[in-house]
Formats: sequence, C-alpha cells, structure tokens
Amino acid sequence: MSIGPGEWFTEVFQDEGTAFSLQMRRLCHEEQTPFQHLAVYETETFGNLMVIDGCVMLTARDNFLYHEMMSHPALFTHKRPRKVVIIGGGDCGTLKEVLKHPGVEEAWQVEIDERVTRVSEEYFPELCTANDDPRANFFFGDGIQWMRDAAPGTIDLVIVDSTDPFGAAEGLFSTDFYRDCMLALGEHGILVQQSESPLLHTNTIIKKAHREMREAGFTQTRTLCFPQPVYPTGWWSCTMAARANPLKYFREADADEKPFVTDYYNKDIHHAALAMPEFMKRALAEDDEGMPPYSS
Ligand code: SAM
Repeated sequence: MSIGPGEWFTEVFQDEGTAFSLQMRRLCHEEQTPFQHLAVYETETFGNLMVIDGCVMLTARDNFLYHEMMSHPALFTHKRPRKVVIIGGGDCGTLKEVLKHPGVEEAWQVEIDERVTRVSEEYFPELCTANDDPRANFFFGDGIQWMRDAAPGTIDLVIVDSTDPFGAAEGLFSTDFYRDCMLALGEHGILVQQSESPLLHTNTIIKKAHREMREAGFTQTRTLCFPQPVYPTGWWSCTMAARANPLKYFREADADEKPFVTDYYNKDIHHAALAMPEFMKRALAEDDEGMPPYSS
C-alpha cells in the first residue's frame, strides 16, 4: 500500500461503523510473510506503527499501556512466578515487561511468525531490549501445538498476546486451547489473554472467553479493563483465569515496591483495573448459574 508523507492510514471497523486514523510520514517496511501481511509506518505523532493484515498492532507511543497490563497484573497475582510463556507477542514488548521481574527465571515467546520479531528488532528496538537476556527463549511456531505438547504442571503463567481471533489466532480462543493451558499450568498457574474491547466485545468474545475458560476447568475468571488509544474504541481488556489463586487479591506490597520502572502500571492502577463496569457484571452474571461467581 503506497502511503506518502501527510497521508492517513485508516483502519476501518466495518461492523461497528467506525474507523481509526493516524497521519503518516512514510512507509518503512512492507512484506507478505508466510502467515500474514506485515507493514511498518512512521507516523507524524505516534512514532512507528506496526500493521498486520490491515489491523493496527501497536505504536511506539502507546504500546506500554497494553504490554504492561498484559503482564504485571498477572505476575503480581501469582505468588511466585518463575516460568512464563507468551503465546504470540512477536513484537517482544510483553517479553520485555515479563523480564523486568527479577523472580522470573525463564520466559518463552512462542510466536508463529518469526518475521514479526525480526522486523520489530529493526523498527521497535526499544521493545526488544530484553531479547538478549539469558532468561529469554524464542520458539517460532504455532502456539496451539506448543501448548498441546507442553509438559503438565510446568508453567506458572501463560500470556496469550495474540492477534484478533481470526486465522492463525482463532484456535487461541477456544476451550481446547484453554484446557491445554490449564494442564501445562498446574494448580497454581494463571492464564491471561488479550480479550478485545469491553465496549464492543463483552457479549461476544469476552463472555465466550469466560465461559470456555470455565469449561476448560479454570474456576475463576476476571476481566481487567485499560485504555489503549489505537485499538477499536480506545478501551481494551485482558481476561485472567485461575484454579487456585484468588484473582481479586494480588501481591500489593510487592507491586508498590516493584524494583523496576513502569509508565502505567502501579498498585492503584491494578485495583482500578479489577473494578468491573456494571454492563459487564450483568453480561457475565447471565452465565454464572451453577458456576463459581466470575468475580471470586
Ligand atoms: N497486541 C496486538 C493486538 O492485540 O493486536 C497483538 C500483538 S502481537 C504482534 C500478535 C502476534 O500473535 C502476531 O505476531 C501473530 O503472528 C501472533 N500469532 C497469531 N496466531 C498465533 C499462533 N497460533 N501461535 C503463535 N503466535 C500467533
């Protein structure tokens, strides 16, 4: 797609009748990988922008909101996370946040498309600063198969940092995948998945995620909301699932004294993200009959 200086990149959300635009400086990179169309643009005000199959993945300016909220709430909820697996997350931003935790001994990034990581190393070097950390491990292949093959009870935290639930990512939003995660996690593990927009997807993707995580054997599920300006509606979410760890509690003192710098996450943000909007409570309560309450 040829976009010249001053022109606009627009992602249209046809079903919602909305669109999001950023003013461009130039197209930096474009290729068709074996899996998807990948492009990087330099924008006027949001730094570099990554686009996969026409969908905005991240910008240099605001990705910290998403990457911090995909990692720190779950890491501070688990009592002692040592082994963390990221499914997707090829831009390496989540990996960087995970490895800020000194207690993490081993982190895996399981990304289907190696080109996303190589292109990120070139155009988003600030997200790739932990890639040479000796605790960082990379596997380029399908996260669904990887999780199916994982040894039972060996992982503390699985973070599903995927594209929207279509194409290669579709199976990452399914009961079978959640069951494989549960088995690989063991009793005290936590699963966290990016779960799209609270405004647009509570009755569809978010509700389905809660239901299927419960069907897979997780006893608690909880959705955390946070801002993400470049995604549809500017309001995003992740959903956590656990069997033994109560998701409404977290290591608050540790979060308050975290030995690293964040730009968004802190203990008050964590509390705020756990607060559930009324419409979401109502929507999820409809599925609660015969199950432990979603908010326990
Ligand atoms: N934060 C972004 C969002 O919500 O739009 C996602 C960022 S990250 C670039 C998403 C990654 O998930 C992509 O690089 C894609 O290749 C990867 N992905 C999709 N399906 C996958 C699968 N089945 N296994 C592993 N990685 C997958």
